[in-house]
Amino acid sequence: MNLPQEFIDYTSALFGKEHWQNFIKAFNETPATSVRFNPWKYKQEQIFSSMKPVPWCQDAYWLKERPNFTLDPLLHAGVYYVQEAGSLFLDCVLRQYIDSPVLALDLCAAPGGKSTLMRAALPHGSMLISNEPDRRRANILLENMLKQGHPDVLVTHNYPQDFHKTSLIFDVILVDAPCSGEGLFRKDPGAIKEWSLANVNFCRKRQRKILEDIWPCLRPGGLLVYSTCTFNTKENEENVRFIIEELGAEILPVQIKQEWEITGSLLKGWDFPVYRFIPGITQSEGLFMAVLRKKGEYTGHSISPSFARRYVQGNKLIHLLSDGNPQPEQRGKEKIPTTAQALSLNCTKDAYPYIELTLEQSQSYLHRETLSLPAGVPQGFVIVTYMKHPLGFIKNLGERANNLYPKNWAIRNL
Ligand code: SAM
Repeated sequence: MNLPQEFIDYTSALFGKEHWQNFIKAFNETPATSVRFNPWKYKQEQIFSSMKPVPWCQDAYWLKERPNFTLDPLLHAGVYYVQEAGSLFLDCVLRQYIDSPVLALDLCAAPGGKSTLMRAALPHGSMLISNEPDRRRANILLENMLKQGHPDVLVTHNYPQDFHKTSLIFDVILVDAPCSGEGLFRKDPGAIKEWSLANVNFCRKRQRKILEDIWPCLRPGGLLVYSTCTFNTKENEENVRFIIEELGAEILPVQIKQEWEITGSLLKGWDFPVYRFIPGITQSEGLFMAVLRKKGEYTGHSISPSFARRYVQGNKLIHLLSDGNPQPEQRGKEKIPTTAQALSLNCTKDAYPYIELTLEQSQSYLHRETLSLPAGVPQGFVIVTYMKHPLGFIKNLGERANNLYPKNWAIRNL
């Protein structure tokens, strides 16, 4: 692994000798694979042969081997999400600090790992706005959130300053900021090529702009979770200090266990509770997280999920990609049910007939191939399931069935 000399000089001094040696040693090890089950879809069926619980997150497990996830229909049905263990720490944070319904914003959400987790960890009656400004990435986020199927999620495609222009005020905001990606070096050698000190400084500047732009949208007393997947203190501790000193926040501790081997602050003379996951020390890729509370008392009203939904639906400044309530598409005179409807937790069992597919048939379906159906399947729109989990719709014409799975979601290269 050819690491940039400037990164080596800086990070070895930052980590200290022992951590640095363990970190370098871990480069030759294969990163562990972890998954988190969707609590509303997973029915304790045996999916993976060997699972070890990730102790800082509910419903999350390390797997002994990495299966071919792409070919598993249950992934596409939203039964689980493949998620790096470090990022699962958000579960521990949210469950510790949030025990009543909130309006939450995940500002930098694609591809959706933390948003899917956030929706699962937030109390019933909460509403999550899952947002991504990059168009291509926003479509991936949309796909992942629709597969998870929770109705109280709005997917939006906006920049932070757009929220600023609305009167939306959030109880919780997650800023999982775009960063220099040092924590991904082991998993994604491409991140090494893109790294430079200039890029670290660029990222730090952008992170502060994002934080400043979204800060007015957090209610006094509200919670800001700041995270990156990088190690340096410029994008981490120094930005947290900026939030405390310049924006007006107090930092909150998270209850952790010593055996998780999470590293604290690495900024000299600044001993605040922050949480750093370092490969080779913690069983994960790199992650940094800090929890902050905005100073002051809130005197306004808390916003209900139904109000937030209506507000976002009617607000021209917000580019809404999904309002959590998928509807059929009107094509000419016909109403065509959508895959999002089949995947939604709101899908009523008896609205359409169901047909259970085998593994091979499910894979063909997800590949958008034409299915040959056994006799007796009702004509018209039918939901196809694998292990009883809906995957999407077909339209059964009798002699053949049209595959209605979206082109841009289809599995390629089976
Ligand atoms: N939270 C995601 C997850 O857990 O799957 C990963 C987020 S990734 C670290 C950072 C995201 O921030 C990227 O998708 C990137 O497109 C987005 N981003 C880039 N510039 C941004 C900006 N100015 N404001 C908000 N998000 C931005």
